Amino acid sequence: MNKADLIEKLNQSDMVLVGLGEEFDDRERFGHEPAYRDVCECLKEEGLLWMLPLWNDIFSRRMGTDRLEEGLQRLLLLLENKNYFVVSVSTAGRIACGGWRAGRLVMPCGTGLKKQCAQGCRDVLEEVTEAEHNRLSEILEEAERGFSLQGICRPGGKGEALLGVCPKCGAPFILNNIYAENYNEDGYLDQWRLYTKWLQGTLNRRLFVLELGVGMDFPSVVRWPFEKAVFFNQKAFLCRVNGRLHQLTEELAGKGCGISQNAIEWLGQL
Ligand SMILES: [Zn+2]
Repeated sequence: MNKADLIEKLNQSDMVLVGLGEEFDDRERFGHEPAYRDVCECLKEEGLLWMLPLWNDIFSRRMGTDRLEEGLQRLLLLLENKNYFVVSVSTAGRIACGGWRAGRLVMPCGTGLKKQCAQGCRDVLEEVTEAEHNRLSEILEEAERGFSLQGICRPGGKGEALLGVCPKCGAPFILNNIYAENYNEDGYLDQWRLYTKWLQGTLNRRLFVLELGVGMDFPSVVRWPFEKAVFFNQKAFLCRVNGRLHQLTEELAGKGCGISQNAIEWLGQL
């Protein structure tokens, strides 16, 4: 199916379900850089992988944000008058900040924008302040220059109260995302409830499912449920854009198309 036909199909649909995936972390452009990988190793060793979304954002910005920005702008234009919902497994800060209709975005893997208790105390969640964000970014850039990350946000460790401490149990705050050891899922659950309700409303409607750059890191969040939604809806259509994993399962034959291209690139060429 060519691009014009696809867009026509999207325009004719009643509802549009969008999945944004790992390709929006934009690691394709910097994942191989030694400087990026070295700090990732340190984060892993020190139990600080919750800083990874921030580290990705820093590198993505460094490589220039035009490509990502332009891709997301085109997507927003495409969705302008549609009844849509966006589910992102990418933790990119740019997605969280961006231009969507109120309440129509859920990010189940979290971001670097909220902080939680390291012990996972349920109802403790706060916004990260700009000063905290800047300080964490500095620490990551220091790590890149070889400074140790040992003890960051650990009880009694260096920079213990970098993000403050939990008012309930006194443990340090860390960023609220899936890479946290005790990920507090309350950060997205309200939005998730809205999403599941919206999804129930898609049955028997002309549903266009646009899955963009979603890999296999968290297949149970987007890939599999999206396939299921298309399978059970007679009027659904799945467009899967992915640089490596664009194939559709056999059950969906005739109900979709797979496009073998990086999703950000694809959007840029719409
Ligand atoms: Zn706590």
